[in-house]
Amino acid sequence: MTSPGLPDLHRHLDGSLRPSTLARLAREAGIALPVQPRFTPGMGLDQALACFSLTLSVLKSPDAVRLVASQIAEDALAEGVTTLELRFAPQLHGGAPPAVIVDAALEGLAGRGGLILCGLYGEPPDLLSRLVAIAADRPGVVGLDLAGGPLPSHDFSMSDYEHPFAAAREAGLGCTVHAGEGRPPAEIRVAVELLGARRIGHGTTLLEDPEVVALLRHEEITVEACITSNWHVGAIADPMDHPAARWLDQGVRVTFCSDNTLLSATTAAREHELAAALPGMTPALWNRAVECGHQARFTRS
Ligand SMILES: [Zn+2]
Repeated sequence: MTSPGLPDLHRHLDGSLRPSTLARLAREAGIALPVQPRFTPGMGLDQALACFSLTLSVLKSPDAVRLVASQIAEDALAEGVTTLELRFAPQLHGGAPPAVIVDAALEGLAGRGGLILCGLYGEPPDLLSRLVAIAADRPGVVGLDLAGGPLPSHDFSMSDYEHPFAAAREAGLGCTVHAGEGRPPAEIRVAVELLGARRIGHGTTLLEDPEVVALLRHEEITVEACITSNWHVGAIADPMDHPAARWLDQGVRVTFCSDNTLLSATTAAREHELAAALPGMTPALWNRAVECGHQARFTRS
């Protein structure tokens, strides 16, 4: 029997450049790179998000976005990934209108993976509605995400995104939300019940609320587990503390993902190796997660 390959449904374009490409694009743009942007253990989500401002500074143009999307598709294939979804927030790549940036990413992917557009916590809901409108006539865009994390200074909370997420579902897009990334599991409930998320990014606090565990099991929601990234942002104290084996054991659907191959110096293959080493993980549970990942890919309906 041939292996079905690995899934990677949660990989950010702006966190997954090749180091050599980052250096080249920075040189061409005349931008000095003080250090290689990298996550470090326990750095916290805010500092981790700041790393993206550096990578984004070299990813303004459609040409750069096209190149990096193409290389990510190549890299994923080389890691053994057969089901790839790449995500990014085109509104952050200011070198061209978001629709042009999205087209560049789709050209780079060339059908080798689905594209998810990310709104960011705190952005006006209208901006997410514009992303949905861009996705509407581009079948290569398969999903909408809410990424980053909530801050007290934000004018909008999760519930304010109900309308754009409803529009995304009407347009046939899959919905995923970064939720419970070290923050209370109530966020996961809002993502599922109000925003219609079929997948949850991270969800590291899930086990704190058995009712939310039951909700994910009942609704057959898949959690995108990113072990190294969760360790780097301090959502878990050690990679081997990741609760994914317990989730699987409790019947929750889980898929292992890279999140950011550059910033976390990882690959999908490496994340699946780490998953296999988690306490309580069995070959049956690991295989189940691989299967869940392939099954949870977004397809335009
Ligand atoms: Zn993410």
